[in-house]
Amino acid sequence: MRRVVVESPATVSEVLFGCSWQTTFERIEGRGSVIITDHNIDRIYGALFPKGVPVIAVKPGEESKSISTIEDIVSQMVSIGIDREGFVLGIGGGVVCDIAGFVASVYMRGVEFGFISTSLLSQVDASTGGKNGINVSGSKNVIGLFNQPRFVICDSAMLKTLPESEYFQGLSELLKAALIADRELLETIISLSGQLSSADLSPIDDLVFRAVEIKASVVTRDEREHGVRRILNFGHTFGHAAELCYNIPHGNAVAWGMLAAIKFSRSEGYLSGEDSETLAGLIESLNILPDKSIDVDRVADRIQYDKKRSGEGIHFVFLRSPGEAFTRLVSISDLALFLRSFKL
Ligand code: ADP
Ligand code: ZN
Repeated sequence: MRRVVVESPATVSEVLFGCSWQTTFERIEGRGSVIITDHNIDRIYGALFPKGVPVIAVKPGEESKSISTIEDIVSQMVSIGIDREGFVLGIGGGVVCDIAGFVASVYMRGVEFGFISTSLLSQVDASTGGKNGINVSGSKNVIGLFNQPRFVICDSAMLKTLPESEYFQGLSELLKAALIADRELLETIISLSGQLSSADLSPIDDLVFRAVEIKASVVTRDEREHGVRRILNFGHTFGHAAELCYNIPHGNAVAWGMLAAIKFSRSEGYLSGEDSETLAGLIESLNILPDKSIDVDRVADRIQYDKKRSGEGIHFVFLRSPGEAFTRLVSISDLALFLRSFKL
């Protein structure tokens, strides 16, 4: 078993690899726990959940990250009789982790929680870092809080049942971790690029472990995103705007956003032409780009609504070299100007 630790002023959170997800159950039995999951996970794994622990299953998908779902879960927890000593175990992908983390953080002013992270996207990114948020009127994660889970379990055996398209969403965030912070991981991804598919999960354990180490080290240094944590937004400024315009999956949108950010890093004179070409070729070869063409003018118009905007600018994440990122405050108008000139 391998372990990565996220330290924050309030808590120590551990992410565990190479152990069966079911080993978690001894931590939660007999202490007034509840499992929060979605219907897909419940259908596939529910029979293996510990007997006697109540299960609340939500509809799969982003729409469940809503106030009405939270209200429904809270009223179920009250009728089950969960008290302040209770424990919330989220079993699922990013959506379930967000919901479970949010509910646990506010229920009776906060109970402890942990995750069994079942999708590649949530294993490499969403379940580590302590961000818990839900959506209101189409604004993503607009209410939420920082609060670390006690533990996160990443069991790659669970990825066998993950739909292939979801696998590629996770690959995109895995590549992000390598691009911003780890040239060695990037070289590994390049060497495996033709073979990375959901049909063969053998290389994935080590890749996920390294991506989580990167994220944990960034979050430990800056839990609340006042500085270095911003580099985790690589590809997300352009990506989020495209995601909102076209309602495309997050990983695909981020892949497109990373491609644009690589070209921007080149045009601002940070990345060499050769590196920019190599990285663009890698993104194209990984099968992670959106399957529809993106109108850059439409996306450029959307940038001004970015949630992370600070005044007239955004702390944009550039690559200085493959495996090294930094941020610079760029005006909204300069971002839009670059984007309008950007051709794939
Ligand atoms: P994310 O990509 O952020 O993890 P979700 O939580 O919505 O987003 O998960 C994506 C989809 O994959 C959902 O429909 C969820 O039910 C499904 N899913 C997650 N993990 C697994 C798994 N191990 N096996 C089968 N389906 C899964
Ligand atoms: Zn993301």
